[in-house]
Amino acid sequence: MDMVNVRDLFRKQEEYVDQTVTIGGWVRSIRNSKNFGFIVVNDGTFFEPVQVVYSNVLENFDDVEKLNVGAAIIVTGKLVATPGTKQPFEIQAEKIDIEGVSTPDYPLQKKKHSFEYLRTISHLRPRTNTFEAVFRVRSLIAYAIHKFFQERDFVYVHTPLITGSDCEGAGEMFRVTTLDMENVPKNPDGTVDYTKDFFNKETNLTVSGQLNGETYAMAFKNIYTFGPTFRAENSNTSRHATEFTSFDVEFSYINSYEDVMNLEAEMLTYALTKLKEEFGEKVKETFGLDIVVPTLPFPVMKLSDVYKELEERYNYKVPESEKTDLTTEAEKLSYKLAKEKFNHEFLFVVDYPADKRAFYHMRNEEGKLQGYDLIWRGVEITSGAQREHRYEKICENAKSKGLGEDVKFYLEFFKYGCPPHGGFAIGVDRLTMLLLDIPTIKESQFLFRGPNRLNP
Ligand code: ATP
Repeated sequence: MDMVNVRDLFRKQEEYVDQTVTIGGWVRSIRNSKNFGFIVVNDGTFFEPVQVVYSNVLENFDDVEKLNVGAAIIVTGKLVATPGTKQPFEIQAEKIDIEGVSTPDYPLQKKKHSFEYLRTISHLRPRTNTFEAVFRVRSLIAYAIHKFFQERDFVYVHTPLITGSDCEGAGEMFRVTTLDMENVPKNPDGTVDYTKDFFNKETNLTVSGQLNGETYAMAFKNIYTFGPTFRAENSNTSRHATEFTSFDVEFSYINSYEDVMNLEAEMLTYALTKLKEEFGEKVKETFGLDIVVPTLPFPVMKLSDVYKELEERYNYKVPESEKTDLTTEAEKLSYKLAKEKFNHEFLFVVDYPADKRAFYHMRNEEGKLQGYDLIWRGVEITSGAQREHRYEKICENAKSKGLGEDVKFYLEFFKYGCPPHGGFAIGVDRLTMLLLDIPTIKESQFLFRGPNRLNP
């Protein structure tokens, strides 16, 4: 059977009008009269659904009439133009195959459901208009970023999720084990005997693909990864998830971390331009928002200057001891600052003290990080930096953090021809949340994973 996507019906209507077409989709609504009825079908390929008109010429008219919302059907019929009505065409059904019935207690009703309710049925929420839009936008953001890097000859590498290193530096890790938790093998000193575990040693889920990515950037020059990342942190904020999907980018032969910032700014401008072109109208209609394509270059401020201006402009004061990073409130206010001072939505913040950062970040003589955080609409969306590539220096940094055996393989690597390089990480979950101004990251993940949240 040659099935056509509803997207194509809308995009190439002239080709299909007065032709017999077959579509497969899900019933969004159904209305019956005595001898005929209307079914609104959404096939998931386009924002707009199609209206199907059916009548008692159908062999299975009695079954079709009894369909509930949510049912999966295949419709064959003539595509007829309907000028002057709400939608440009309808399908006059000659055949409707019922592929999967739905029960009358289908949890999505016509009324507007709250995000909280929809979260309890996360597996069904992509069938709502709002979530269809969220996940289409998310898909396109990810695609546009891939495209940006592919067009610039970055190699897409797939770094492992399982790691033997517990010091990747970006956050707390989840343990991976096949040990019997009811009967954990112990060493004579009472500690867990990991030699009996699957990998014969302590094993974790990765918090970042960066370290592995760096090694590939030393062969391919420019690489990126895109995949799941895990953080075992009890963060119950609107912007943290336990599992999120992140791009990690590493590229070689840079002059400084400014090259990293420039690449990222270009990437975001590219992705937002694509989104505006493709989904600008739909985003406006669904979320009441304009997609703002940023101008280049993005503004840059030193961390100390941000605090100075936040105090001067908004009387925002924090103790000196907290000024080693942006507080959550300072992140929020820095959006206001960026808008007022630069008329820009993005702000690169630089000149962080490096001591709280991972050992692989480059620092200058004054101990300042050769890197940045990027704040968008009051939330950090990226950390980026020039990486330390000098063998002696990186060994020194690792030692000062008390790291040894675990990073040995990584440190060894720096003996074999490492040029200056740098990179950044950016999660699509946060990006989607901020772009659509949806209240929490729970709504930009297909199935949200957070503390105490595994199902659905
Ligand atoms: P935060 O300070 O917000 O906890 P972080 O400094 O731990 O973030 P990085 O390790 O620098 O974050 O990660 C880089 C990017 O990965 C972040 O800017 C963000 O886009 C994304 N990210 C990090 N942690 C999370 C999380 N728990 N949930 C969703 N996205 C995240």
